[in-house]
Amino acid sequence: MWATARLLHKLSLKGKLRASPTKVSIQPQSPARTRFAPSPTGFLHLGSLRTALYNYLLAKSTGGQFLLRLEDTDRNRLVDGAEKNIYESLDWTGIVPDEGPTNGGPFGPYRQSERMHIYKRYAEQLVESGHAYKCYCSKDRLVHLRESAMALKPPTTVTYDRKCLHSPEANGQEYTVRFRSPDKYEPFTDLLHGRLDLQPQINQTDRRYDDFVILKSDGLPTYHFANVVDDHLMKITHVIRGEEWLASTPKHVAMYRAFGWQPPKFVHIPLLTSLTEKKLSKRQGDIGVLSMRDQGTLPEALTNFVALFGWAPSRPEKGKATSEVMTMDDLISKFSLDQLTKGNAKVNDNKLHFFNKSHLCARIKDPKKFDKLADESYACLKQQTKTEVSKDYYRRILREAGPNMVSVHELHTVHKYFFKEIEFEGVDVPKDTQTVLDVLKTLRNKQTAEEPFPVDAVLSKLPSLKKKNVFEAARFALTGGVPGITIPVLIDILGYDQCVKRIEKAIRFLEKS
Ligand code: GLU
Repeated sequence: MWATARLLHKLSLKGKLRASPTKVSIQPQSPARTRFAPSPTGFLHLGSLRTALYNYLLAKSTGGQFLLRLEDTDRNRLVDGAEKNIYESLDWTGIVPDEGPTNGGPFGPYRQSERMHIYKRYAEQLVESGHAYKCYCSKDRLVHLRESAMALKPPTTVTYDRKCLHSPEANGQEYTVRFRSPDKYEPFTDLLHGRLDLQPQINQTDRRYDDFVILKSDGLPTYHFANVVDDHLMKITHVIRGEEWLASTPKHVAMYRAFGWQPPKFVHIPLLTSLTEKKLSKRQGDIGVLSMRDQGTLPEALTNFVALFGWAPSRPEKGKATSEVMTMDDLISKFSLDQLTKGNAKVNDNKLHFFNKSHLCARIKDPKKFDKLADESYACLKQQTKTEVSKDYYRRILREAGPNMVSVHELHTVHKYFFKEIEFEGVDVPKDTQTVLDVLKTLRNKQTAEEPFPVDAVLSKLPSLKKKNVFEAARFALTGGVPGITIPVLIDILGYDQCVKRIEKAIRFLEKS
């Protein structure tokens, strides 16, 4: 039971955690080597994406390197497809590792399951130096120790009685290797939270020891051990990870000391919660990165959104405008650990929509980015809807309608009239049907290919009506009443013949109803 850690967690949940305020910059002045170390136990979601992004931004903003290391030694928890999902998610969001399982690097292998020989060697080193020992205790004995520790008053999760440190009984059975933990863990500094003294709760009348396992009986290392060995060997300077790892950090620091190594600098970032401080639901962002892509989220909108969960760019100088809309290059140039925030980061979907709209608009306006966007979204549309429309036609719709949309998916969900005829049966009929009918009939008589939308001519024929009536009627016929695109633009994209057809179809429908 890590009393201080639990307390810390509670305080920070309320956003009240305050370490001694310091004005000293915590942003490194030399190139940082950072890593993202996911376990392939599920698909990458917003929380892990933020961890990866902050590590990436710290490395890139200091001219350092960002590594991807796969922590896959807990073989029972592996999930099919999770490793591929991690690569694809990082690739799509542009968080590209300088070193990692797929591109290698000077400190590989970067998949922990391929580093067993290394962990074995370092575990032996700790046994030889007296910082670790072999434990032959049976499963039953360990279960008994755990249960009896929980029954103590106060209970403790520190359970081992050090039998194998003092009188091991080898008998050729399997063994684990345990770390001989210090009597008191060393306080450590977290760059965000300050100096922390986290000690497990111990029952003094029945003394047990926090001698955690570093190598399991099958020879696989535990997370704590492999993580420390790898961070050291891979020359990691800064570890940015979720607050849930705070309570493990004293263990890690103790292992660095036992090896005589310098620990990296630690930054534990706050939890992500919904606006009401609840655990994230699927709708609020506990959703896979790739499914957000499939729903039309742009990668630069997602990284922009995620970057602001616990970080904000420094305030601009007086008189200078600032924007929260940032590309990856903007994020790299603005990122600094000094602007990390301590309270829990609240996820607000509306913000994502805002960023998606802004970045979509920027892509549409940039000719180079527009081509790529059009190619990709056209391919996606063809695959999803089997539409027959030509690419040129699609590009025109995207150019005109895109800047008003939150996501390209709205083209075929909201503006579906661009792709198929309108079935008026399912459409809300305007209240003043007769007026709509009058306008459409007049419009049909007056329009020509040269002047397809003769508003003034319609109004001089129907003097009691207003411009608004003409526009409403035309929108009903051309889009089934969907707002968003101006009528002249609609006519231009659909073409004169198609508009005539739609107006005639609408007239037939209204005459029947
Ligand atoms: N493998 C751990 C995880 O899944 C890594 C934690 C750390 O960054 O140290 O989150």
